[in-house]
Amino acid sequence: MLLIFGLSVFFRTIGQGDFHCPNCGGDRHYRQRVARRWFTLFFIPVIPLNRVGEVVECGTCRTRFNLDVLRMPTAQRMAAALPMAMRAAAATILSAGDPTDSTARSRAVDAVRGYGLADFDDAMLAADLATAPEGAGEVIAQAGAQLTTEAREWFLAQVVRVALADGAIGPGERQALHEIAGRLGMTPAHAVGVITTTEGAARE
Ligand SMILES: [Zn+2]
Repeated sequence: MLLIFGLSVFFRTIGQGDFHCPNCGGDRHYRQRVARRWFTLFFIPVIPLNRVGEVVECGTCRTRFNLDVLRMPTAQRMAAALPMAMRAAAATILSAGDPTDSTARSRAVDAVRGYGLADFDDAMLAADLATAPEGAGEVIAQAGAQLTTEAREWFLAQVVRVALADGAIGPGERQALHEIAGRLGMTPAHAVGVITTTEGAARE
């Protein structure tokens, strides 16, 4: 009798989720799979041998990547990062000025809504203010990393407008604006430019 034996690699799924597929370019379902070499007899795996590696396989285009691909944020997560960042920035700037001023609060609510969180309201803002913006800088930095220079300027200008709502920008507010700008990835000079321009526009 002729024995047909060989070595083959088989994959076993050990996890799954959503990721951004760099090949077919979108948020896709993935399977995380372990590759193991098997000794086969008549094409049937009989003895497991060494582990060859671990891969992430796109459920749509079937391309396999190494695990690093999971570090890329999905489009959904990126889209969520912006309103979260504006919430954090709005709470920060209000806390640095007068958090009870109704004009400033309504401008803060508008700014967050402008970043896509349509159902954001004063009650949610009050909750944000109550839970001292722990980690706010981190949230803003994550959003800043994906923004273009113009988008960072726009973001900062919205925060400046919140600061201006209750009158001139105080020293505490100015310092908070600079911290936010720094987290966004802007230089101090760039921040001064945006703050001054926005102040000037508000006076006209
Ligand atoms: Zn794909």
